[in-house]
Amino acid sequence: MTDDCIFCKIVVGKIPSEKVYESDNIFVFMDINPLSEGHCLFIPKKHAATLHETDDASLAEIPLIIKKVTKALDIDTYNILQNNGTIAHQAVAHTHFHLIPKPSADLGLKMEWDPQDEIDQEEAAEKIRNYMN
Ligand code: AMP
Ligand code: ZN
Repeated sequence: MTDDCIFCKIVVGKIPSEKVYESDNIFVFMDINPLSEGHCLFIPKKHAATLHETDDASLAEIPLIIKKVTKALDIDTYNILQNNGTIAHQAVAHTHFHLIPKPSADLGLKMEWDPQDEIDQEEAAEKIRNYMN
């Protein structure tokens, strides 16, 4: 628990939430400003600001629970969004995954996809391969 983190406060019940599920590791609740009906958030109970700082047990569990919630909502069109860092549109500095149902083209997540033709990916690929080995 980090005192100045709103999601930590939600986990311990100091701030109310529309909770839908919790386990030892994770907590799931409805987003207060939904982009579409059913928009919810999946967070580790243990505070971490970003994905790369998050404990492995929570990270392993979250996609499985997202899958289960898609069945509960009976949806097959949706986006999973996970922002890290202010410049990457992260407003709350406690790791969270959005499940955002996409019931129609005009509801849910809207994306601007802007491929950069001039980028050569080889250097980054080499960096990743070297780190993995
Ligand atoms: P992000 O931009 O990825 O950091 O998204 C933060 C999300 O947290 C937004 O979609 C907010 O609507 C949501 N949010 C912020 N405060 C609360 C709260 N008290 N209860 C539920 N959702 C919240
Ligand atoms: Zn927190």
